[in-house]
Amino acid sequence: MEEAKTVFKVGDRVDQMCLTCNEERGHIVVSVTKVGRITRVSCPMCDSRVTYRAGTTSRASAKVGAPYDRGRTYRKGQTLTHPTFGEGEVTAIIEPQKMDVLFADRIRRLIHAHS
Ligand SMILES: [Zn+2]
Repeated sequence: MEEAKTVFKVGDRVDQMCLTCNEERGHIVVSVTKVGRITRVSCPMCDSRVTYRAGTTSRASAKVGAPYDRGRTYRKGQTLTHPTFGEGEVTAIIEPQKMDVLFADRIRRLIHAHS
């Protein structure tokens, strides 16, 4: 039996089915118990906060994004592959040239549409 990570902290990423988006995607942990068990998670795409349901996660990652290109203009929901951080999904466009990307561990802010 494989040992899964059991202690989490706010800001960690977990995969869970989002009923609003109707797809499984990375969620951000928004609250944990004293022993590090997740109680609530937030979907970065639709901002819905839901109760974490242990056991519904999977490591399956079907989507593979094209290599990250800072000169490219991204849209929310696009996937990319960063040379350092790996697979990511654009969760929000912050400014015309800044975006939040959800990577395997957490959200990072990247630039885009940079000429
Ligand atoms: Zn959602």
